Amino acid sequence: MKICEVCPRHCHVDRKKSEGFCNELETIRISKVIDNFMWEEPCVTDEKGVCAIFFSGCNLKCSYCQNYQISRGKVGNLYSEEAFIDLLKEKEKNNSYFDFITPTHFSNSILSALEKYQPKIPIIWNSSGYESVEILKKLDRFISIYLLDFKYADNDLGKRLSHVSNYFETAKGVLDFCAKKEDIFENGLTKQGLIIRHLVLPGEINNSLFALEYLAKNFSDRLVSLMSQFTPTPNSPIKRKLTPLEYKIVASRFLKHFQKGYIQDFDSASEDFIPNFTGK
Ligand code: SF4
Repeated sequence: MKICEVCPRHCHVDRKKSEGFCNELETIRISKVIDNFMWEEPCVTDEKGVCAIFFSGCNLKCSYCQNYQISRGKVGNLYSEEAFIDLLKEKEKNNSYFDFITPTHFSNSILSALEKYQPKIPIIWNSSGYESVEILKKLDRFISIYLLDFKYADNDLGKRLSHVSNYFETAKGVLDFCAKKEDIFENGLTKQGLIIRHLVLPGEINNSLFALEYLAKNFSDRLVSLMSQFTPTPNSPIKRKLTPLEYKIVASRFLKHFQKGYIQDFDSASEDFIPNFTGK
């Protein structure tokens, strides 16, 4: 952490003293914990649901971020390693999974905690896909399910919307690694494996079609989840929701390529689906 290379941004800052692009120091900060969260894919949602842990800050910081209130960092409470372990011990009693949401920039601190305490329920690593495979290799024995975004097949779009020039190549490498985690299902629920998400962005249908084509060629046997829920936030450069026609075009292509997976309902594009990070 002295010269941070936790993610491919390689900011080379000392995270004990300085923040990099992710806007967080090395101490874990959590903006919200929601018990029995029911909004993830059905294969990880049983009657108890997941314990959703929203980490503060983000190493990608998409300009249209739905969770912009927390992704800019410094929102929520700091957790020492002991406090984080205590949280895991408390929450594993009443939830079926842990859902670590945007954890990437705290990977080293999370790894250190998990080396001291491994929860009894599966951990979902829910990330943007912009990760370091070297770090994931160290975390892998603690992670049961990778729930990864595959945002851009078009690097120009990644540059414009997420200030990153190599998203496609990076995410491909991450998917290749995470795909080694074999899918294991029990009673219709994923206990181990990989779920790949793609959020369709208004006005960027070609990006979605290219992304689906790549996923179909390389991961047609894995669970892919197509998402419609984009809702413009105050500072988003994308000012509108998807049109029914845009989603229909992408969903049709999805159905052509994939035998299994999920297509989010079109009416999921609502503020109601964004957690309130300002209240309790
Ligand atoms: S984790 Fe944060 S500081 Fe480290 S390289 Fe990534 S963005 Fe930069």
